[in-house]
Amino acid sequence: MRIALIHIGQETNDFNPVPTTLRDYESFGIVEGAAILEKFRGIGEIGGFLDAISRSGHDIEIVPIVRGWAVAGGRITREAYGFFEQKIRLGLQAAGKIDALALQLHGACAAEGIDDVEGAQLETCRAVLGPDVPIVLGLDHHGNVTRRMVALATAIVGHRTQPHDVYDTGRVGAEVMLRILYEGARPVTAWRKLPLLSHQEQFLTAQGPMKVWFDRARAVEADSRVLQASNYPMQPWLDVAEAGWSTVVVTDNDQALAEKLADELADLAWSLRAEFQKKDAVPIDEAVRMAERAPRGLVVLSDTGDTVFGGSSGDSNLILEAILRLGVSCPVLMPLIEPETVAALVAAGQGATVTLDVGGHAAPRFFTPLTVTGKVGRIHRGMVPLQNYQQPEIDMGCTVVFQVGPVTMLVSELRGVAGNLPDVYEFMGIDPRQYKAAVLKTASNFQYFAPLSSQVIRVDTTGPGQSDVFGLPWSRIPRPVYPLDPIDDWRHTAP
Ligand SMILES: [Zn+2]
Repeated sequence: MRIALIHIGQETNDFNPVPTTLRDYESFGIVEGAAILEKFRGIGEIGGFLDAISRSGHDIEIVPIVRGWAVAGGRITREAYGFFEQKIRLGLQAAGKIDALALQLHGACAAEGIDDVEGAQLETCRAVLGPDVPIVLGLDHHGNVTRRMVALATAIVGHRTQPHDVYDTGRVGAEVMLRILYEGARPVTAWRKLPLLSHQEQFLTAQGPMKVWFDRARAVEADSRVLQASNYPMQPWLDVAEAGWSTVVVTDNDQALAEKLADELADLAWSLRAEFQKKDAVPIDEAVRMAERAPRGLVVLSDTGDTVFGGSSGDSNLILEAILRLGVSCPVLMPLIEPETVAALVAAGQGATVTLDVGGHAAPRFFTPLTVTGKVGRIHRGMVPLQNYQQPEIDMGCTVVFQVGPVTMLVSELRGVAGNLPDVYEFMGIDPRQYKAAVLKTASNFQYFAPLSSQVIRVDTTGPGQSDVFGLPWSRIPRPVYPLDPIDDWRHTAP
């Protein structure tokens, strides 16, 4: 058997005006052909897939086509979209006869003028492979499952946890594929779309309503006729024509069972809709004071509005402004993504004292530049090595340490992983253990700092990733949608 493998991903935030370019993909590495197997064996979704295939003992040749990943951000450019469309098409055409395709995408990617990038990529695959070659589509569970994806994929699998265990998703996808190829499974799919969205504060699957919903999907899979049950709480910044939460159930040739279980999972999510809206975030000044008063560090201050891992621009200065205004004296770590500021700091040179405007260059709708004075520290260009991440290294562009009062800022050209992994600070010669607080540009992925941190405080900041979904400039999402509009029964608006 020959199985082709494609892995392409980006999560789009429609409220971040900065487009995602090929440069953003290159910073995470665009890899083609056999090099994919060398670089990602044992790592990430590709690694999980390869290990499960190899464990099966079957005689399978993997035909790797392309791997491209960019951190969440604004819509991808037409150039980036066209680049990957061509890689997929030409790669599959050149692959010769293949028996199946593992297609690992995100599910919430939009391009300039294209709402459903993954549906379009799936269409490209089908155009080359025809209707009969099994395609197992792997998605991030924050994806927006569309009618086209359901129609064109043979089976869909999604992440089972938040924070995501992408290796596990690769494994699950491989196991579904092996059942199709070697055990004669005939997948049929039922899909329910819910007119529902929520901010991300209740997105962790280990607690609260999300645990209830995801645990139920796992219980549904205990039935051996069920190949896969996956829930999709769409990330809350995707403003597209088919936006909304969904659930997908794939059974072995039992459509009635799939329909019944999909209804059950949709009903359960709908019954929890008010609980998903519960907010934990505290106002900025209060959060900063809480960190200062904490008996010990390291306190994580989650900048919910400027979550880079949720596609925000990374140029918020709201927490910085509060720290300086309130006269907080404890040492704080904070990233800032701003090429203009990097250029100014580099021009001044290491050791220089500089007064300049920081923040608000990328997303002026949400942030206003703040004038600060600080001292330029270490300057680095090139790759930054990472431990325990879905890839071994990252290019953040030029990165500069900038000390402003008690705040050690890590200012970078590219979003990369922002300051969400301690590895980035350590590489720059900074020991996070010496700090009282660290601002993280994520509202969910606290796992990298967990070994160092004493507590997490969600800060109720504005920004492209803000928890106040009512305050976002929605234009394309189908209405009515809960909680923006009052709806009693999800079926009233079902497609
Ligand atoms: Zn996700």
